[in-house]
Amino acid sequence: MDMNSLNLKDYSSFFVDMDGVIVMHDQRVPGSVDSLSQLANFGDIYVLSNNSTRTRKRFAKNLAGLGIDLPASSIINSAFVLAKYLRELKGATKAFVVGEEGLDKELELMGHEIVQPAEAEVIAVGMDRDINYDKLDGALSGLLSGAEFYGTNADKTFPTPEGQSPGAGASVGAVKGMGFEPERIVGKPSSVAAEVAMEVAGTDNPEDCLVIGDRLETDILMAERAGMDSALVLTGVETRESLKESDIDPSYVFDDLCELVASSISV
Ligand SMILES: [Mg+2]
Repeated sequence: MDMNSLNLKDYSSFFVDMDGVIVMHDQRVPGSVDSLSQLANFGDIYVLSNNSTRTRKRFAKNLAGLGIDLPASSIINSAFVLAKYLRELKGATKAFVVGEEGLDKELELMGHEIVQPAEAEVIAVGMDRDINYDKLDGALSGLLSGAEFYGTNADKTFPTPEGQSPGAGASVGAVKGMGFEPERIVGKPSSVAAEVAMEVAGTDNPEDCLVIGDRLETDILMAERAGMDSALVLTGVETRESLKESDIDPSYVFDDLCELVASSISV
């Protein structure tokens, strides 16, 4: 594919990943704020993130603090995706959570109830920086009593200014390690994430959507499977080397969001 052929006018919705693209551990990725405001001239911007640690509202507030004004309704994180998916699949459920505040609260906002393991129908697992033996023991007892295991996402790592830290894959993996397979992991690259994103954006044509992300096996793979175009930016997880080694092919590759926007304008 011709790497210079991106035309932002071809899209009505931009699904932009957050960590490693817009922000890095609560700090702006250089140039991302201006680039997003330029991108907004071409279509609607949605933040599509596998990060389940905070609520959509809280992410919107954090982004506003960095100069990025997006309503909470334009933030689609994996906690919201899981809450919505479960609501549509099973109605209001009783859930035990291995995860952070964002997952608890998004489940509650969608009408689910957070309960102790013995009452749980669902064990919802996301990134958890306070994971411990008690939480895993809770998940195990719920699963042994027949609860179903769902994951927000399975990102192996999470980018921080110091390098990589454990992602949701660490907590999902800990539960898997006790002998259980998740019914579904809903975040990118799952088709559930793509479907929820399109529903929020009010489009049913994947060709209207451009996915912008820093990780091949989540952002770019979801786009590929959903029939959406994708742009990889190299401000997060991937490098030219990791791209070369992967068989996942983004439609476009840019050093950062600035180059993405500049490339299209110069077409
Ligand atoms: Mg990312």
